[in-house]
Amino acid sequence: MSLRSRLTILYSLLTGVILLLSGILLYTMVNILLMAQVDTTLMQTADALLTGWRVGQSGELSLQTLPDVNLTSFVYYQIWDNNGRLHSSSPGLGQINQPFDPVAYQMKQSIYRNSTVRTVRLRVLNIPLEVGGRPIATMQVAASLALVDTTLQSLIQTIFITAAAAVLFGAAVSWFFTGQALAPLVSITDSALNISNTEDLSLRIPHRGSGRDEIGRMVNAFNATLTRLEQLFNSQQRFLADVSHELRTPLTVIKGNVSLMRHTKEMDAESLDTIEDEADRLTRMVGDLLLEAQAESGKLPLHFAPLELDTLLLEVFKEMHVLARERVQLKLTEIDQIMINGDRDRLKQVLINLVSNAIKYTPQGGQVFLSLGKSSDNARLIVRDNGQGIPSEDLPHIFERFYRAEKSRSRAKVGGFGLGLSIAYWIVNHHQGQIEVDSAEGKGTTFCIYLPLLKTDATKPPEPKQAALPPTAPSPKGPIKRTKE
Ligand code: ADP
Repeated sequence: MSLRSRLTILYSLLTGVILLLSGILLYTMVNILLMAQVDTTLMQTADALLTGWRVGQSGELSLQTLPDVNLTSFVYYQIWDNNGRLHSSSPGLGQINQPFDPVAYQMKQSIYRNSTVRTVRLRVLNIPLEVGGRPIATMQVAASLALVDTTLQSLIQTIFITAAAAVLFGAAVSWFFTGQALAPLVSITDSALNISNTEDLSLRIPHRGSGRDEIGRMVNAFNATLTRLEQLFNSQQRFLADVSHELRTPLTVIKGNVSLMRHTKEMDAESLDTIEDEADRLTRMVGDLLLEAQAESGKLPLHFAPLELDTLLLEVFKEMHVLARERVQLKLTEIDQIMINGDRDRLKQVLINLVSNAIKYTPQGGQVFLSLGKSSDNARLIVRDNGQGIPSEDLPHIFERFYRAEKSRSRAKVGGFGLGLSIAYWIVNHHQGQIEVDSAEGKGTTFCIYLPLLKTDATKPPEPKQAALPPTAPSPKGPIKRTKE
């Protein structure tokens, strides 16, 4: 059964039960009130009747005057003597040779009771009459309950008809409103089915109502999940396309050179060099991919220990000097003695990546400056070059995996795979640090890394800020800065 039908039945049953209970209460109250009214009438009539009777010397009863009592066609009286003979009764009562209520008559006490005489229901007031404590007779005043019964019967009918109408009306109203309330669920179901059938994650669930009610919030949450899924799916697609593209290029070069050697039947030294270069490139890429995958799944272990950052920078400076050779001038402009808590190998990897990028993307005769200083509670590492710079449209994306600025993309020989900065971002982030970039095209690029200084009581590794690499560009509030041109 549908939720709509279940809700409608539930509301209708609830309305029915409430109306039934109210009906029973109303019926009982009206019954009590009507009976109380009849009882009052009987008591007043009895009081009035008694004023017209006198008791003689020998104890006999005699009617002096029939008091001015409203003996309507519904109110009657009888007076029975102690010998069980009818002494007198209402005029026009006809032949009744037994008390209105024989049981009450036998009881010899003042009591109200219901009784039936010849199919007529009566309310009877039984009053034993005494003179000086001596019983002389019994008076019974009775009223027909026909009017009360008719009234109560009409009341029951009215209650049932009203309740039935209210239940039907309530069912119709609740059917309509639950239909309206549940309509977005139907559209959500349709949209979800449509999305899974068409595999189109760009579809969103439309919702016209308020976004603040339960349904609106559910639709928003569902759409947010879809957006996230779409991003993940797109990034996975892009990742696969990038990996296959990056793998294909060196493999094609290797295959081409092997074919050439087979064709010429000579071990060409140049071809062998190229094959070796491309194999190195593939090895580097596989290593980077492994790191990337480990970082992404949170399985890249970081071994934190107190670390002399100045020593590390000097080491990188010396190693990179070899790479820069005569082509680019590598200079150390400032170096402070600084201790931090960090993973030596991973931070060295970050520095090597930044310095080798600076050397790679700086043309012959250019300069690369390294410096290490303090900035409030942080160590500040700067790698600055006066090379080609990064185009403004590429700047927000350079920390994304596989992202390479268009210019370096075309210079595939120089550029890597676009993984270095995304891994660097992850490593710095997991040292509670920040990495910033500042670049102007044609003028140069500055990368700045902030890492918390080692506190004297810092024995524990810092808590990582984020669990994974940035799936998309870091937010505008993030580490990227752009120099105004
Ligand atoms: P790659 O291995 O391609 O260098 P990275 O992730 O290290 O990958 O860098 C991403 C991109 O950022 C590079 O392809 C390049 O376009 C740009 N980039 C990085 N550093 C510099 C720099 N110092 N000067 C100019 N462009 C840079």
